[in-house]
Amino acid sequence: MSRLCVHTITTKPLSLEQCLTAFPKHGVAGITIWRQALENRDLRTVQRQTAEAGLEVVSLCRGGFFPATSASDRQKAIDDNLLAIEQAHALGAPLIVLVCGAVPGQALTESRKQITEGIAALLPAAEAAGVNLAIEPLHPMYADDRSAVNTLRQAHEICDALGSPKAVGIAVDVYHVWWDPDLQSQIDRAGATGRLHAFHLCDWKTPTTDLLNDRGLMGEGCINLREISDWVDGTGFTGFREVEIFSNKWWSGDQEEFLDKISRSYDLLYS
Ligand code: ZN
Repeated sequence: MSRLCVHTITTKPLSLEQCLTAFPKHGVAGITIWRQALENRDLRTVQRQTAEAGLEVVSLCRGGFFPATSASDRQKAIDDNLLAIEQAHALGAPLIVLVCGAVPGQALTESRKQITEGIAALLPAAEAAGVNLAIEPLHPMYADDRSAVNTLRQAHEICDALGSPKAVGIAVDVYHVWWDPDLQSQIDRAGATGRLHAFHLCDWKTPTTDLLNDRGLMGEGCINLREISDWVDGTGFTGFREVEIFSNKWWSGDQEEFLDKISRSYDLLYS
C-alpha cells in the first residue's frame, strides 16, 4: 500500500481538502494533484496541508497542449506550462505529466514537432526548478485533439530528439498503451534510459460507453494489469502506482465507498 497514489480527478466530487482527509483513511500514501483542484488556493498552504495529512505529492497534472496553428497560441501554451512548473515547485511536486496536445486537421507529424519545440522551451525552467516532465502517450482515439503522441515509441523519439535530458521522461498509463504490441520492449527501453517517470492504473471496460469518462476500476475491465505492472517493476521502477480513473459512474456515487473499492482492488491486484 506504500506505493498507492490516487489522482484528485479520480474523486472529482471531493475538494482538495476532502481528498487530504479521505485518502489516508483508505491507505493511500501518495496524491497526484490536478491543477483545477488548486483554484483559489495558496500553494504553500496546500504543500503544508498535504504533508500534515501524511501524503506524498507524486505529480502535478497536467501540462502540455503544445500544438496550435498560430505562434502566439503556441507561446500561450508555453507560458501556461511555465506557470505549471512554478506551481509544481511551490507544491513540492517532483513531476508534471504532459498531455501533449493535437490540432484537428493539422498533420500529426507537425504537431509532434511543435510538442518537441514546446518541451524544449520549458527545459531551462524545469531544470532550474528541479521539476521533471513526463510525456504521457494517449490512446490513438485521442489523436485528433488531445495528443499526437500515441505510443511509447513516439514518446521515446521526442526524448531522443531533445537529446535525452534527464528532466524529460515518460508516463505509462495502462489505459492508453495496453494494446501496444511493443509495450513490453518500450517499457524496458524506458527503464534502461531512466525515462520511466510515472505509472498510471485503471481498467478498460467492455463496452466503453464514453471515450473520456468511462474508465474502469482495476479488475472491472480487460487490461492485463498485473503483467504490465510486472514489466514496469522489472525495470527497477519503485515509484508510485497511481490510480487515475475518469468515470461518470464512479463520480456519481459515494466517494468514500469508491476509495474503499480502490484500495481493495489495488490490494487484490498486488496480493
Ligand atoms: Zn494518466
